[in-house]
Amino acid sequence: MPRTEPIRRVRGIRDLMPQERALWRTVEKAAARVARSFGYQEIVTPILEHTDLIERVGSDTDAVAKELYRFEDRGGRNLALRPEATAGIVRAYFEGGLNQGPQPARLFLIGPMFRYDRPQKGRYRQFFQFDVEAIGVASPALDAEVVELAGSWLREVGLSDLDLELNTIGDSKCRPAYLELLRAYYRPLKEKLHGDCQRRLETNPLRLLDCKVPQCQPFKGKAPRITDHLCDECTDAWAMVRRLLDTAGIEYRLNPYLVRGLDYYTRTVFEFYPGGASGQQDALVAGGRYDGLAEAEGWPSTPGVGFAGGLDRVTEVVAASGAEVIPEPAAEVVVLADAGLEVAAAEVARVCRAARSVAVDYEPKSLRAKMRSANKLGARWVVLLSAADAERHAAQLKDMASGEQAEVSWKDLPERLS
Ligand code: AMP
Repeated sequence: MPRTEPIRRVRGIRDLMPQERALWRTVEKAAARVARSFGYQEIVTPILEHTDLIERVGSDTDAVAKELYRFEDRGGRNLALRPEATAGIVRAYFEGGLNQGPQPARLFLIGPMFRYDRPQKGRYRQFFQFDVEAIGVASPALDAEVVELAGSWLREVGLSDLDLELNTIGDSKCRPAYLELLRAYYRPLKEKLHGDCQRRLETNPLRLLDCKVPQCQPFKGKAPRITDHLCDECTDAWAMVRRLLDTAGIEYRLNPYLVRGLDYYTRTVFEFYPGGASGQQDALVAGGRYDGLAEAEGWPSTPGVGFAGGLDRVTEVVAASGAEVIPEPAAEVVVLADAGLEVAAAEVARVCRAARSVAVDYEPKSLRAKMRSANKLGARWVVLLSAADAERHAAQLKDMASGEQAEVSWKDLPERLS
């Protein structure tokens, strides 16, 4: 018979093994706890959305233009695996009637996103985000609120050395005139820019500001800054966001080159980086206001602000910071029974389960070997069951820490284990 290769995982998509889940769970629990403490409720939107929804919202981003997983389903619908959560959450806000309830709708989501990115350390084709959105209210106080929420989450998981970068990109009132100034500044420099920037100069000049290619860097310093060209409303909002952050004691660095390349983004943009890493590494959290997004999806014009935190990135940074994570035991109690006692062992496990997590070792091997695996599973107690014990509905309870062992009747096990 020809030997077939075992089937391996899909390129760029990884498993999260049980030993990694302890840290992930800590980070996810902190996300949910902090979000709830700010009055945000969990929402779960589908991984599959209409390709249209995703494309309308992100046509000029790499995540959509180059990296979208899309396919036709058996009914001929064009569907996509979501590359981010905001588009779906805004859709659900209207379809689920949250637009009729108290405003803003404060929502969070934790789940997988998909981008056909070049796989490398820290970048995966399936990755996870903690996504927070406040939809329905234009107040800049909400911009500051989501920044504070993101910072609280990162600090709660032990990341205290953070850089917060902040900028505003104006709105549909003041941005068009600013973009003209930016084009006028860059046009004479066009030949000196790299290919993408030459193209973007006319289509999406804001993106010239966050270009990382060395040959484009010398020209940024003298480029006009949007903060000098804001309309009155954007000026007030910008001042308010900073005042609120100042009052909250949140430090930030103004970065005039922090932008978003899509028209529906307005005003505040922000990113959190590990201390000293901005520019060299991926952001831990990226967010901002998107007052034009609902309309881009075909819904009534509705303001919104939020962020996405990368769980893969955050867990990596937390792990690298040497934070101590206590692994969760596979089972607190392991039942070791002699051969032929499966029924009694299952019964004893059921009794113990009232108090603790329990696993039964059904492997046909020596008591010694079973003791070793109970240890590896992190068990605090072992319940030894012989035929004679089972007859009397008794068992030997061994405390793995002290090594002490005593006979206990089945019915007393939960009390002894609690
Ligand atoms: P974005 O949605 O691109 O603004 O990114 C928001 C967060 O998601 C950041 O913290 C990124 O590190 C994270 N992220 C984006 N793409 C990937 C990816 N391919 N793999 C892992 N994390 C990602």
